[in-house]
Amino acid sequence: MMSHKKILVAVDLSKESDQVLETACKLADGDKSRLRLIFVLAPVMTSYPFAAGAVALGDLQEQATESAEKKLRELADKFDIPAENLDVVVGAPASEIPAEAKQQQVDLIVLGSHGTSGWRVLLGSTASGVLNAADCDVLTVRIKSED
Ligand code: AMP
Repeated sequence: MMSHKKILVAVDLSKESDQVLETACKLADGDKSRLRLIFVLAPVMTSYPFAAGAVALGDLQEQATESAEKKLRELADKFDIPAENLDVVVGAPASEIPAEAKQQQVDLIVLGSHGTSGWRVLLGSTASGVLNAADCDVLTVRIKSED
């Protein structure tokens, strides 16, 4: 199998993220420093439009980012992935994941076939968006449903 030197693993922090990481760790072949983890956080403006004006949106965004960084660190610890290889970025996953892959010069993106947005379909919207936009190889991990 073709060996990829640097791998970007996209996780949505759902419980299915473990399935994506298990495959990515096998691909890293014992060298976890080859893995980078990314979580893309929705802008608070789209998550809480009602909050505009009532509280400082900048503060809300900062809190949401800190909370996501903590969850991503906990997930990375579970799989022994170095803390310096973690990225939380704000935006839309289907465009931010390929953009980060380009910036980090990775040669493979690993993500789930579907997550919260694509349950019971072959490919979710993030997965198909990343496949269309990425300049590098993309591996989709078939997420197994628990029901
Ligand atoms: P979806 O296509 O949105 O159903 O999700 C497919 C896969 O894309 C998930 O299993 C994750 O690997 C990845 N993904 C979805 N949303 C995000 C996100 N916000 N940040 C990083 N990766 C994500």
